[in-house]
Amino acid sequence: PTVLGIESSCDDTAAAVVTGDRRILSSVVAGQAALHAEFGGVVPEIAARAHAERLDVAVEQALAEAGVTLGDLDAIAVTAGPGLIGGVLAGVMLAKGLAAGTGLPLVGVNHLAGHALTPRLTDGVDFPYLMLLVSGGHCQFLTVSGPEDFTRLGGTIDDAPGEAFDKVAKLLGLPQPGGPAVEAQAAAGDPRAIPLPRPLLDRPGCDMSFSGLKTAVLRARDEAVARDGGLRAGVRADICAAFQAAVAEVLAEKTRRALALTGAPLVAVAGGGAANRAIRAALEAVADAARVRFLAPPLPLCTDNAAMIAWAGIERLALGQRDGMDLAARPRWPLDRSAAPMLGAGK
Ligand code: ATP
Ligand code: FE
Repeated sequence: PTVLGIESSCDDTAAAVVTGDRRILSSVVAGQAALHAEFGGVVPEIAARAHAERLDVAVEQALAEAGVTLGDLDAIAVTAGPGLIGGVLAGVMLAKGLAAGTGLPLVGVNHLAGHALTPRLTDGVDFPYLMLLVSGGHCQFLTVSGPEDFTRLGGTIDDAPGEAFDKVAKLLGLPQPGGPAVEAQAAAGDPRAIPLPRPLLDRPGCDMSFSGLKTAVLRARDEAVARDGGLRAGVRADICAAFQAAVAEVLAEKTRRALALTGAPLVAVAGGGAANRAIRAALEAVADAARVRFLAPPLPLCTDNAAMIAWAGIERLALGQRDGMDLAARPRWPLDRSAAPMLGAGK
């Protein structure tokens, strides 16, 4: 099938056209960074309004770039949660309108399922596999056993790594988003110059914690400022390097455990954190040592996009599932079967 995907759960307005044989005919992503920049974070009301204003343009562009019209489509897939409710609603409303107007099936998709199923779109991998989602808002290990079969092995008990990178950047006077800025600084620093903790590494299981690292960075900064009368460039680079190394080490060790626990033949990453080269390298080393395949999808498909939503919709369609006009927008929607009713439950 040829499916239109729509994504508007955070601060990216996205639309894409994807086919059942894994071809991405188009993938349009319109970010809103400039709109939120002065507020130092995503403002839900601004995001919702921007999605409402731009979604139809994104859809038109996705159709045009794919060289298809609504009549060529077989279904409309849309993120129905989790995320900022105003944005999710804007997407769900548009999708319902398009489905009603064309008579096409409507498929609601869990945004996290979109991330988790991306390795099937990019590389056609088989179930089961281990997924480490490291984005701005999420950090968790999932065993992916089917299009709607996810088991959560553990995750952060406080901040997500992307969030921690952003906060550390703020503490050190670096620009947002913090990830790329901290990574660039880290390249010039010595990761061993400043001792930082490795939170929760001494505890069994796959849970992680990153907020303590942020506090440790604050302390290191204040000590350096008190000692040197200001934050020297070299010290700032060392703090970035030490912080990045600590995050990478925690993610790597927990990945090693998750692999041992599941015996999965492949580990994949998704989310903005997968852009970080130190994190990627650490995970790859763990996978190599465990003799399992490591997969990091191309960056535009690691971060928020609508191609993954179209693909997750295709997977649901293949199971014979679709939604009605009562499809609800859900601000919270855990993936794990044990945590909540599954995708499409009640259909
Ligand atoms: P979610 O998808 O969970 O709602 P999000 O859309 O904010 O969250 P992504 O778009 O996947 O998340 O990723 C953005 C996050 O990734 C930001 O917090 C950013 O700092 C982080 N990030 C981006 N590049 C890097 C990098 N090179 N190193 C570390 N972190 C990075
Ligand atoms: Fe996301």
